[in-house]
Amino acid sequence: MAEIIDGNAVASSVHRELKEELAGISAARRPCVAFIRVGEDPASVSYVRKKERVAAEIGIESRLHVLPENTQQNELNALIDSLNADGGVDAILVQAPLPKQLSERDTFNRVRADKDVDGFSNANLGLLCQEDPRAFVACTPAGIVELIRRSGVNTSGRRAVVVGRSLIVGKPMALLLMKKGMDATVTVCHSKSEKLAEICAQADILIAAVGRPQTISADMVKEGACVIDVGINRVPSSSTKSGYKLVGDVDFENVAPKCSKITPVPGGVGPMTVAMLMKNTLAAYKRHMGI
Ligand code: NDP
Repeated sequence: MAEIIDGNAVASSVHRELKEELAGISAARRPCVAFIRVGEDPASVSYVRKKERVAAEIGIESRLHVLPENTQQNELNALIDSLNADGGVDAILVQAPLPKQLSERDTFNRVRADKDVDGFSNANLGLLCQEDPRAFVACTPAGIVELIRRSGVNTSGRRAVVVGRSLIVGKPMALLLMKKGMDATVTVCHSKSEKLAEICAQADILIAAVGRPQTISADMVKEGACVIDVGINRVPSSSTKSGYKLVGDVDFENVAPKCSKITPVPGGVGPMTVAMLMKNTLAAYKRHMGI
């Protein structure tokens, strides 16, 4: 049976380290992250609440801006511009998904690169491509790197397969794995990939970021592989009060006995995304304060 990578425990260690680091800094003000939420999507409400709670635990100030569902792009831009110009704000996070009338790309690019702690702007994606240490790296892939490192998984020269090519997970994940220091040999798959099962079965490190339950079955996993499940899918369940439960993209029950390490859903990658947001916010603060 695989070792189950406990994302909650690793995230707690990161929070503790950030809190200690912050406690050692004496400066005129605390770090500050501004959250923007548009509308009342229940998942977004709960994600932002969680981020506010963790920020408070670490000692990071947070400011929440809630805009109505029918907000227009120019109104959202005006808020982002004012936060960009606010010297007391180190980090800006616009919670996705945004209502349909708003462009996520335009919105993410409106955030000033040095406050773009989500790492979704063209500027930060470009810096990541160049392996520039100033890049703010998208929090989910950055969190996966941290999980892999802290679990003692060696990536150098090994074969990594990333299933999914989104700008927020798949693409930056592939760039991070191939980066100097990680040195994996990376293959990226997507919905048009042929022989997906065959390619996945060659992976020493398999990352599933698809958004479809049961995409990765046991026959697609190499014996002894490390499997990272990014997917968060709501499926109906008669055993929960809410009537649904969260599952990943991996058939956990049948894959776990085959691999060396695996992340659960929930409690794997998810908590690390929040931890990396806090890490990026502290880095932005240090940069702004000249520390
Ligand atoms: P997207 O929908 O943007 O991307 C999904 C990717 O999966 C696409 O590249 C798509 O291919 C590919 N894909 C779809 N179907 C298949 C298939 N049958 N075989 C192979 N590839 C396929 O999703 P995200 O990247 O934003 O998110 C992926 C999952 O991760 C979601 O469940 C999301 O909720 C979760 N997530 C979790 C986070 C966390 O903190 N744990 C954070 C962010 C996301 P194509 O490009 O061809 O369409």
